[in-house]
Amino acid sequence: MQNILVIGAHYDDAELGAGGSMAKWIKEGKNVYKLTLTDNVTNFEKKGIKVQAESSIKESSKACEVLGVSEVIIIDLVECTNLIFNKKQMQQIESFIIDYKIDTIVIHYTSDIQQDHIHAATISYVAGRYCDNILMYQSNKYILPEAFYPRYFVDVTKTIELKKEALACYGEGHNRYNSLFDMTIAQNRVEGYKVNMNEKESYAESFMIMKMVERS
Ligand SMILES: [Zn+2]
Repeated sequence: MQNILVIGAHYDDAELGAGGSMAKWIKEGKNVYKLTLTDNVTNFEKKGIKVQAESSIKESSKACEVLGVSEVIIIDLVECTNLIFNKKQMQQIESFIIDYKIDTIVIHYTSDIQQDHIHAATISYVAGRYCDNILMYQSNKYILPEAFYPRYFVDVTKTIELKKEALACYGEGHNRYNSLFDMTIAQNRVEGYKVNMNEKESYAESFMIMKMVERS
């Protein structure tokens, strides 16, 4: 894993699922890129959720700066909630993957329950089908059609503060029910305990493996 591309349907997905890992990989000298597929515009009045494009772009840019990650802006963004598999975005990502010699993609879980996440996963793994490693994360905390049972864990104890700082860049519309960010960090704490099994305050992010190749 040297050149890593993290793909999300919405601007905050990458940070929610892999923010601590992205910061860790950067500290280890790896090249880490973040790419978003929709404009993130949300007006879910019945749930009181409102997110705008302009503010999200600025917030994402700040969050990437905190983590040290390069944000990729090569994609024609699709309207939020209308993302479906499309050759145009797939080929744009595929082209980036080839040009930047991406060996690892980190993508949404294929059995997510949010429509943009599901299609983002498909677009991503088709575009990255030649990559050595494909890891899947869960950004939001829905109960899913098929369980998210991770097998790959990254100890993010040393970068959890950067993840908190990156999430804090986003406005309240992103922090669903004023709880999503805190619940994400709490889950990372539980995973840190599972990974380390000791009394120290540790944190981990977790991924399911679609594919992992070790080269000679
Ligand atoms: Zn999302």
